[in-house]
Amino acid sequence: MDLLIRRLRQQDLSEHGTAPGDRDRTGSAGLVEGGQNTHRLIPAQSLISAGTLGPANRGRLLQALYDMGPSSRADLARFTGVSRGTIGGIVQPLLDQRILAEGEAIPPNQAGGKPATKLWFSKEAKPICAVLLMHDRVHTCLVSLEGEINAENVAEVPQALTGASDVFQIVSGCVERTITSSSYPILGIGAAVAGMIDTETGSILRTGPVPYLDGFPIRAELTKKFGVPVVVDQDTRALIVGDRWFGQGRGRRNFAVVYIGETLRGALFLNGHVHRGAAGAGGEIGHTIVQLNGRACHCGRRGCWETVATLKWIREKARSKGLPQPHALNAGRLVMLANQGVKEAVDLLDEYAFNVSVGLANLQHLIAPNCIILHGDVVHGGRRMLDLIERSFRDQLLDRPGDEIRLALGDSENVAALRGAAGLILSELLNFVI
Ligand SMILES: [Zn+2]
Repeated sequence: MDLLIRRLRQQDLSEHGTAPGDRDRTGSAGLVEGGQNTHRLIPAQSLISAGTLGPANRGRLLQALYDMGPSSRADLARFTGVSRGTIGGIVQPLLDQRILAEGEAIPPNQAGGKPATKLWFSKEAKPICAVLLMHDRVHTCLVSLEGEINAENVAEVPQALTGASDVFQIVSGCVERTITSSSYPILGIGAAVAGMIDTETGSILRTGPVPYLDGFPIRAELTKKFGVPVVVDQDTRALIVGDRWFGQGRGRRNFAVVYIGETLRGALFLNGHVHRGAAGAGGEIGHTIVQLNGRACHCGRRGCWETVATLKWIREKARSKGLPQPHALNAGRLVMLANQGVKEAVDLLDEYAFNVSVGLANLQHLIAPNCIILHGDVVHGGRRMLDLIERSFRDQLLDRPGDEIRLALGDSENVAALRGAAGLILSELLNFVI
């Protein structure tokens, strides 16, 4: 633990230019104590007023706890660079509110003194209701502050529905069933929607194949119905929050997520924050053009990345190549056929991996997240899929000595998205730094 803290602290300092070493990978910033070291930790343009100092520090402390796991007050003080007294002042109200709990005791050291305990999220903390609304189904569950998933409910959204109120009835029915299985009242609802979202108004702008939800004020409707705080965001941004807290993005200050399946979207975590763009308009990387005068995209343009690197594309290609059951093809089956030596499948897999890598290289060139986690159907292609994508991705990168660039497959997308949806509301309520 000490080594980890030293490493992360050194990286934290290096980010602010006061210590040499590797570039920062941790998303936790130091805490701010009245009057000292503030020049190092807070950018000049955003001074923190006395009124917001408490919530900001509370958020940073909880983020540090997620990054390090169960920790003592002394660990937290060292990691965040403040005194144990400051930590104690932040921790006590969180213990009183049963957000945190004292865990196992650490034996006192040779110098004696009061035995320390490790702090972690309380089992009695109110859970969060997470909602994942996709084109054809809705998935709800309770997420504990430790990321445990319970009381899952799934309902189909039939394509024959014609009105937003019909869909909302299905969504709220699912939420209701999940909430009633909780022994505690819920903290709030975090909803991740597969579509274009206005994060300021909490409305769905466009959901592609399910147009009857376009313009639907889902946050306002859920708040009205359940009387708890609600946060709504795009599903890929929920994935990045889930990865940041519980997945491969843990402890990272910069990384990207790319979802490749029925659609193609991206999300960015930059300088310790989720980057949304104006009113949540960012992340539409699927509509960056990779082929001039290429295939027609549903957005009305031609040659978007989405037109050559989604399930729709591999299924059309499989049909033209005469592969069996092209309508049911996915990355998993394509790799299976390629492993069996079916030549058309081997060729299609190579082409798919190349098409995916082109957009990933564009993303790396522009933003340099240096870590890209893939989600969606592409994950089912496993190691072979990742190796093929990675090979052509690396071929396209500029040669910059010393850069460590990582490409990885994410966890099962529903779990990550549900945890991320819960993370969205928790960040808002507890003032996390994301
Ligand atoms: Zn497009």
